[in-house]
Amino acid sequence: KRIKVGVIFGGKSGEHEVSLQSAKSVIEALNPHQYTIVPIGISKSGNWQVGKNALKALEEEQNTAKKVSSSSSVSFINHQIGGLTSVSPQPSAQPVPSALVNDVDVIIPVMHGTYGEDGSIQGMLELMDVAYVGAGVLASAVGLDKVVMKQVFGSVGLPQVRYTSCTRQTWKASPLQVIRQVEDTFGYPCFVKPANLGSSVGISKARDREELQRAIELAAQYDRKIIIEEGLNVREVEVAVLGNDVPQVSVAGEIVPSSEFYDYKAKYVGGTSKLIIPAELTDRQRQEIEQYAVEAFQAIDCSGLSRVDFFIEKETGRVIVNEINTMPGFTRYSMYPKLWEASGMSYTKLLDTLIELAIERQNEKR
Ligand code: ADP
Ligand code: MG
Ligand code: MG
Repeated sequence: KRIKVGVIFGGKSGEHEVSLQSAKSVIEALNPHQYTIVPIGISKSGNWQVGKNALKALEEEQNTAKKVSSSSSVSFINHQIGGLTSVSPQPSAQPVPSALVNDVDVIIPVMHGTYGEDGSIQGMLELMDVAYVGAGVLASAVGLDKVVMKQVFGSVGLPQVRYTSCTRQTWKASPLQVIRQVEDTFGYPCFVKPANLGSSVGISKARDREELQRAIELAAQYDRKIIIEEGLNVREVEVAVLGNDVPQVSVAGEIVPSSEFYDYKAKYVGGTSKLIIPAELTDRQRQEIEQYAVEAFQAIDCSGLSRVDFFIEKETGRVIVNEINTMPGFTRYSMYPKLWEASGMSYTKLLDTLIELAIERQNEKR
């Protein structure tokens, strides 16, 4: 009997279009003799749509939005913020999600960022008692919140950059206290980030007090919680983790960003950043990366998959954990599948494995 697979994509997050691209690759790669595929799209305004035309409909919505806007990348980000802060979903055309997903065997939620990677959709799928690919509620939520993630990583002794955090309210109330905290613990340059986003949205590097103030104001537009980290001069190396209780680690890949750091433009707009697989590392660095990747995965109680991203400090060669991404970019050309391909596992086999792991975890619960 063919396994019925629901692929959920789109969504209200700032990474809507990345999700469409990932989903397209996934749908094309699933073997039709093995699986019955049910595409499930969520528009930027939060409307659900099921069936063959769902992907096309969202892609067209995307194209129309692009044509209307003059400067696509900027207005696209603004549009996302509109989506993130809109509290009430449109009452029209919003079918009950359970009616969409309750006759599939497994769901692949190919969504990134808010609502897709933060435990929200995972919580809905738990309530529906359906197997789904990737991290559960807890791991998703912890992984997406850079402050809580760092607290958990710190508690198991993983090496990290120094950091501090504030909320929009505490910043407004006493900015000087936040600035002092930064200047007294690590100083400049530092990186300022919204706590709960991905794709480098809202992130900036600050070289002095004035830039720090501006960077915090910017990050505060995206999230009520802000993290400020010591800025290091680094190489960026990533590994793919796959499995449930006994996770496997892929070969490592290095990213050489086309901008000063791996910002939104370098990731998606310019597209000239380089991926080097396998990354050139010492044996010691490779061993540490492998060990830390599993420790990071297990520290947040992750399952299915994750991409764990590292910094290697240029001056010292020291390996530092940057972050974990529980639903990394998943197009054929994305780092995560490429790392597995370089480790001997094809894109199609990777999907088969993820589906098996989802079903295994669902059974393990009982
Ligand atoms: P995201 O979840 O949006 O990918 P990251 O924390 O990975 O956010 O930051 C995005 C990029 O910013 C990194 O890939 C790196 O290029 C740069 N960066 C972030 N934090 C630091 C830091 N502490 N020191 C040096 N570079 C950093
Ligand atoms: Mg991230
Ligand atoms: Mg990152």
